Amino acid sequence: MSSLFLRTLREDPADAELPGHRMLVRAGYIRRVAPGVYTWLPLGLRVLRKVEMIVREEMDAIGAQELHFPALLPREPYEATGRWVDYGDNLFRLKDRKGTDMLLGPTHEEMFTLAVKDLYSSYKDLPLSLYQIQTKYRDEARPRAGLLRGREFVMKDSYSFDVTDEGLQASYDAHRAAYIRIFDRLGFDYVIVRAMSGAMGGSASEEFLAVDPNGEDTFVRCEGSDYAANVEAVVIPQAAALPAEVVATTPARQLVSTPNAPSIDALVACLNATHPRTDGRPWSAADTLKHVVVMLRAGDGTRTPLVVGLPGDRQIDPKRLEAQVAPLELDDFTEADFAAYPSLVKGYIGTDPLGPNASLADDDPRRIRYLLDPSVAPGSAWVTGGDQVDHHAINVVLGRDFTADGIVQAAEIRDGDPSPDSQGVLRTARGIEMGHIFQLGRKYADALGLKVLDENGKLVTVTMGSYGVGVSRAVAAVAENTVDEIGLCWPRTLTPADVHIVATGKDEAVFLAAQDVADALAARGVDVLFDDRRKVSPGVKFKDAELIGVPTIVVIGKGLEKGVAEIKDRRSGERTEVAVDGLVDAVIAEIHGA
Ligand code: ATP
Ligand code: MG
Repeated sequence: MSSLFLRTLREDPADAELPGHRMLVRAGYIRRVAPGVYTWLPLGLRVLRKVEMIVREEMDAIGAQELHFPALLPREPYEATGRWVDYGDNLFRLKDRKGTDMLLGPTHEEMFTLAVKDLYSSYKDLPLSLYQIQTKYRDEARPRAGLLRGREFVMKDSYSFDVTDEGLQASYDAHRAAYIRIFDRLGFDYVIVRAMSGAMGGSASEEFLAVDPNGEDTFVRCEGSDYAANVEAVVIPQAAALPAEVVATTPARQLVSTPNAPSIDALVACLNATHPRTDGRPWSAADTLKHVVVMLRAGDGTRTPLVVGLPGDRQIDPKRLEAQVAPLELDDFTEADFAAYPSLVKGYIGTDPLGPNASLADDDPRRIRYLLDPSVAPGSAWVTGGDQVDHHAINVVLGRDFTADGIVQAAEIRDGDPSPDSQGVLRTARGIEMGHIFQLGRKYADALGLKVLDENGKLVTVTMGSYGVGVSRAVAAVAENTVDEIGLCWPRTLTPADVHIVATGKDEAVFLAAQDVADALAARGVDVLFDDRRKVSPGVKFKDAELIGVPTIVVIGKGLEKGVAEIKDRRSGERTEVAVDGLVDAVIAEIHGA
């Protein structure tokens, strides 16, 4: 420690919102360079290397082969797959001195596909799995919590190449098993959930989420089955149509005056006062069909409006909606947008100007796309906006009075909602996406022309899988998962050192004895962090040891006169007095989980 490139901080960094991030900075693991861009200091780099080693071992164990692509890439392959544009503002684009477009790779499907195309041409060469552990660049809109969401970050990405769908399934299963081993070894609480494939396209897809209340992802688990999904991937089935007899008795659509009813509560109160229902029960928010209007922005900046209709007692979940419309992104519908679409009356949007009902032809660019929440059953009657200020329409029946362009999975999933598999209710929780595996299929191979000759000498398009682990994010997630009030608290598998030896006092004999113990442990393959600082007080040394978070702390000080030292467990705080003679063996036993 007297020569280690390290300064611990007593004060919390101003920009760190999560406890793990605060401690990583305070304990001298990382330093911020720019938003979402961090330097790895020696201690941090050791932890990062340990995550990489675990990932590498498990990838090698399933026969995946490591290679390494540059981060600086040409535009053309990304142009061919559409991602040069689709990635929008998230892509770091740059020009070289000749004015040629380049980018910093956000993920490398294109490069792997082209590499295989370059070198392989026969089914006999497959299956093949390749991977790299490499730095990625994404100009994230909201970099967060240091390493958790960086703009430069380390990812393990691997790709499988197969001729048949069964082959792809086998490659996917092998990766899934490897991921289970990786996340078991990293030592945090995680769940495997169904996922959306997002901007990647493709089909079957699962995420590995670290269970953490500070996570940005929400996932659900069914109480009565093993159904688990990221809320983005929850598919609520379309509600069954109401019987024709019921629809036949629904009164005709009626436009009613609803002054001073800007909110749904006010609207419901107004209707109960002025237009009570005929079936005896009062109107409620669940009877209203709320129309939420957003703009969808494409990578090239073009914006198109979308109206989502959902029951008035539900909210839109922007992440769910965004996952549905990816690679398009959500943008606010501004006052200027209302001015440009005068048929949309703010606060009173009804069904008239929307979807295939509207007087405009289906391909008219002014036609406003209209999607419904799946809970809106064909034949059900609703209160909607009246398409004019201070008016609403009642008894508006889906299929009779209006139609939509389709359904969309965009409503917030609530704790206690029924599970889509009808096996019980859903429980929601938060998580951090640590890994993502999915079956890409032939999308990239098609776009880039990756074909091989099959057994019959016929050219066939290769089918691919794509598999990511957030390596730098794992450092952050484990820190968040294990941190306590006084500092970091590493699991054995990731700790920057196996043991932290603290020598205290002014007596030179103590430092010499501690040095002997450190040397003896090092000789037996133990990674030692030795606090040999002569002019630093014991209090500061103990605080630093707690902050740095090596799981085993050995204190050699006054007790030496009586021939004893102390072993302290960082997590439990439990102290054990040990004879200095047996100290090396005792520490090794402790490290090996005795
Ligand atoms: P997110 O939804 O968190 O933005 P993603 O779905 O875009 O992530 P993938 O493209 O699936 O991420 O990338 C694979 C893995 O890389 C993720 O599972 C995650 O662990 C990690 N990762 C993605 N973006 C970042 C980032 N900005 N900083 C750190 N790690 C990241
Ligand atoms: Mg993902």
